Amino acid sequence: MKKLLEDMKERALKELDAVKGTQELRNFRVKLLGRKGELKAILTGMGRLSPEERPLVGQIANQVKVILEKAIDEREEFFRQKEEEERLALERVDITLPGRGPELGGVHPLTRVLREIEEVFISMGFQVAQGPEIEMDYYNFEALNIPSHHPARDMQDTFYVSGGILLRTHTSPVQIRVMEKVRPPIRVISPGKVYRRDADVSHTPMFHQVEGLLVDEITTFGDLKGVLEEFALRVFGPRTLVRFRPSYFPFTEPSAEMDIGCVICGGKGCRVCKGSGWLEILGCGMVDPAVFSFVDYDSQRYRGFAFGLGVERITMLKYGIDDIRLFYENDLRFLRQFM
Ligand SMILES: [Zn+2]
Repeated sequence: MKKLLEDMKERALKELDAVKGTQELRNFRVKLLGRKGELKAILTGMGRLSPEERPLVGQIANQVKVILEKAIDEREEFFRQKEEEERLALERVDITLPGRGPELGGVHPLTRVLREIEEVFISMGFQVAQGPEIEMDYYNFEALNIPSHHPARDMQDTFYVSGGILLRTHTSPVQIRVMEKVRPPIRVISPGKVYRRDADVSHTPMFHQVEGLLVDEITTFGDLKGVLEEFALRVFGPRTLVRFRPSYFPFTEPSAEMDIGCVICGGKGCRVCKGSGWLEILGCGMVDPAVFSFVDYDSQRYRGFAFGLGVERITMLKYGIDDIRLFYENDLRFLRQFM
């Protein structure tokens, strides 16, 4: 029996050298030392030994078991380290590679110009007012002196939501909403989105306007010119030429359009200004007394002026952009130029 144990030990140690990997080692350990393993099988023969022999053989069996367990443990530790190294090599991170840093966003050119316009008027004492984009016919047309069947309604292709409700076609209804709430003096601008059924290189169904309104007891067309000239010089530069041309709007009388000297050709005449040397940038005029009557202002006592400008148009002229659709296509090559 001693011999059996010794032989098993020698054979097991040799076989152990041939074991590859932890799974195979686990099976090997069970085969050798498990409850139904080889060692157990040999020890079942102990019953046939004499009482003197038994402790001796038991001792040897124990030694064999300890040796084999130690050998298997060492082998296991060797595999564990080897597998750990392989895993690390596989998952190795090359920290010398340049990182992918977070990309910085920029302000959209329209937002940038809108903020600039707001700053100019705020510095002249105007406050910012807001109104709803889904508007009532009354505020969008009626109270602005554009009754139904008035031909001026054809000037603006309107998106109707349902009877009497529409998407506002201009920011002018905010004028009415402000005047309904407060008494003069009033100095407000109202920036926001407006909607018209129109789409080409210079029109989109949604665009941005800034409306302006000033009402006080002594307000003249000279005040209007002064404020809007200041605006043009601040936004387009101190050497900008400005002129006013008579025009027509239902809610102002007299009405005018303001032109600036062409920023593309400097006034010589080009494709953008259609050879005239001038570019129209906004509409304006003295508030029509009929509009005051809708909000119960005494038109004998108060006078005011109003203006409206397109943010897209101002931005296009300021940066020489020739297609309005570029603002909404989110092409990073375009947007990055304004960072
Ligand atoms: Zn020009």
